[in-house]
Amino acid sequence: MNPAIGILGGTFDPVHYGHLRPAEETRLHLGLGELRLMPNHIPPHRPQPVASSAQRLAMLQLVLQEYPHFRVDDRELRYQRPSYTIDTLTSLRAELPHTPLCFLIGMDSLLGLPSWHRWRELTDYAHLVVSLRPGWSPQLQGELAELVREHQTSDIARLHQQLAGCIYWMANQPVALSATALRRDLAAGRSVRDRVPAAVADYIDQQRIYCHSVI
Ligand code: ATP
Repeated sequence: MNPAIGILGGTFDPVHYGHLRPAEETRLHLGLGELRLMPNHIPPHRPQPVASSAQRLAMLQLVLQEYPHFRVDDRELRYQRPSYTIDTLTSLRAELPHTPLCFLIGMDSLLGLPSWHRWRELTDYAHLVVSLRPGWSPQLQGELAELVREHQTSDIARLHQQLAGCIYWMANQPVALSATALRRDLAAGRSVRDRVPAAVADYIDQQRIYCHSVI
């Protein structure tokens, strides 16, 4: 069995410390060798991110200066079609047949899981590791509560011994940040330097990405 890796998918419009700090805390807590940031491809019929795919990718590459154990996995951007998380995890599993996969997800995303394509099968391909996010409490109902009951564990060793199949709750330091609030502040001319890595803040300024954004 290879060392377990972490994967954090998102729109990252822009990437911020609400993504990065819980992800790094999780990486250290679980002893993950690497953590991959994986930007989403947004299908044309959905509201588009303000930053282009190339800009979102560039911002993630800049994060690596501050987070040397992180990698950027651009597989969802490489295909000009929407990728469902289940398809992405299937492709990762095919590439890494002996590597436990820990798919990181914030509490808000976990609560929305039942709207994801083939969501009940996600735990066939990866472990789910849930981060606390201010404003979202774990009030699980119905089939989601059932999935969590069946798969949850507090035993970190299982995340390394099994390729997939567990749900683990992080007790991370909550970070009250969202990309929506950052875009709003940037559009209003307010600095976000305390909420993103310095290289990302410089890039946003140089490219003037969010200065006229409509939220
Ligand atoms: P937006 O405000 O545009 O909806 P966002 O800040 O929620 O964006 P996403 O790129 O949609 O960021 O999030 C990607 C992943 O990161 C999701 O799993 C989400 O739950 C998680 N995440 C985002 N912000 C936080 C945060 N402050 N704390 C914990 N998890 C977070």
